Amino acid sequence: MTALLEVNNIDKFYGQFHAVKNVTFSLEEGEIGCLLGPSGCGKTTLLRTIAGFEDTAAGSIAIANQIVAGQKNVPPEKRNIGMVFQDYALFPHLTVGENIGFGIENLSVDEKNKRIEDLLKTVELDGEGGKYPHELSGGQQQRVALARALAPEPKLLLMDEPFSNLDVALRETLSTEIREILKSRSITALMVTHNQNEAFAMADKVGVLSCGSMQQWDTPHSIYHHPNNPVVAGFVGEGVFIDADITGDYTVKCALGELQSDIKLELESGARTKLLIRPEDVIHDDDSPYGAEIISKTFRGPNILYKLKLDNGEQVLSLVPSHHQHAVGQHIGIYQEVEDLVLFPADSSMNDGEHCPV
Ligand code: ATP
Repeated sequence: MTALLEVNNIDKFYGQFHAVKNVTFSLEEGEIGCLLGPSGCGKTTLLRTIAGFEDTAAGSIAIANQIVAGQKNVPPEKRNIGMVFQDYALFPHLTVGENIGFGIENLSVDEKNKRIEDLLKTVELDGEGGKYPHELSGGQQQRVALARALAPEPKLLLMDEPFSNLDVALRETLSTEIREILKSRSITALMVTHNQNEAFAMADKVGVLSCGSMQQWDTPHSIYHHPNNPVVAGFVGEGVFIDADITGDYTVKCALGELQSDIKLELESGARTKLLIRPEDVIHDDDSPYGAEIISKTFRGPNILYKLKLDNGEQVLSLVPSHHQHAVGQHIGIYQEVEDLVLFPADSSMNDGEHCPV
């Protein structure tokens, strides 16, 4: 496989403000990437530098082996990219078909009409080409925006928070649908979102940004199960850190007992660490010798998320099927079933990513 998008050591400043810091990542042909991170971490700025709407202070960007930023600067319209924006940005006075055909005026009328028909089918808006954008739902309008961006057959599709104007239920279905459309056409795409469910539903690779720096660029599975650092662990999924002491080359001990590592722990016996515990790692079982007091509960339909206080005062979360109903204040039995041992230095905190250095 060859990299279709290569971003190398990109820096971007707004005046004195360092918005993107030495960011490097690449996307293979046909891969879908998502830039994920809290508000203000630099996701949109990074996307805009790739699109060519922002200049860069250092580094280089290549699309399909052509340098577009760095030694030379190629303007946005020459970068062979398609863009989908948060607000759809459809032309209200043009029909759906005319919107899709907007960027392919260079084709013959027959070719153009054929491509519009083909794209209408792809985005499941067959027969809707004569309607105006205001006659469509938000999800349909975003599908038209996708079709319009795909019409000139760009090498790379860039999407900036494409689902954020849609309701929650629609976001999830549309992100899965759009992933299928992109995959069926082997389109390489990069999307910005601050919603991890969307990123996980869409992406082959997820990049977690914090304070302008890329914290981890990896598969969704690795981002969730093997976060590189406390910032990624704190931002992705739910979980807490509890104290854990190294007891051997492969073992640590925490308030929920001893845990085994598959790989040798490069830490001295007796060293104190923080262990990441996810809600699904804490299993309810009243026969367990380990107990905890319920301090709060959140009903989530199929599950209840309990916040629990362990005997030593530390807190963990536990996701339990919702027919296991318990009252706040009640003591329940629990045991840990941590699959992936994720350990960080003893002074790590879940809030490590909240404040950027100035
Ligand atoms: P959000 O999810 O809220 O859109 P983001 O991660 O996309 O956030 P950016 O829009 O890339 O963040 O902004 C990154 C930082 O750069 C922010 O602190 C923002 O205030 C700053 N910034 C963005 N655009 C400009 C600009 N044109 N001039 C000065 N500062 C800017």
